[in-house]
Amino acid sequence: MMMMVMIIIIIIITHQHNTDSVVLQRARCLKTEIQKETRKMKDNIAEKTKERWHGKRIHGQLPRNLDEKLVDIEQSCRWLKSGEIKGETESKIVAAQDQANSTNYFKNKILKEETESKCRLCKQHEETIDHLTSGCPILVKNEYLMRHDKVCTHLHYSICKALGIETTDKW
Ligand SMILES: [Zn+2]
Repeated sequence: MMMMVMIIIIIIITHQHNTDSVVLQRARCLKTEIQKETRKMKDNIAEKTKERWHGKRIHGQLPRNLDEKLVDIEQSCRWLKSGEIKGETESKIVAAQDQANSTNYFKNKILKEETESKCRLCKQHEETIDHLTSGCPILVKNEYLMRHDKVCTHLHYSICKALGIETTDKW
């Protein structure tokens, strides 16, 4: 009789253990499925947001102009993730990237004002942000050269510091 009770207890415990592991296994499968579905939904939302962004006339210029073969998009957008600059500065940079600053081209083509769309300095090319930041033949003589030299100075300073070469505090 005692032996019979022991066997029944062992069967019940084993059954309970098997049932628990089956339930646990089903729960794990369900969790994995939910995670896959959630990831799929997030990817769909991100893809739709990206499509809408590309489709916007003004704000879509930046993503349309980025050539993934020439531009490291992840590195180029890293400054947005680091959060090291003020929100006001960030918004000005993003507005410039979106060509949404008050250039002659923007006033003429977007705001439909009766303003000449050509550059105020060279009067040859459309006055866009891209033109002002890197394409104006008037600014190339001094401003672009000065910017180039400053970037090179900072690069030189950073390389010296990385190599342990004695530097001053100011680059
Ligand atoms: Zn110009």
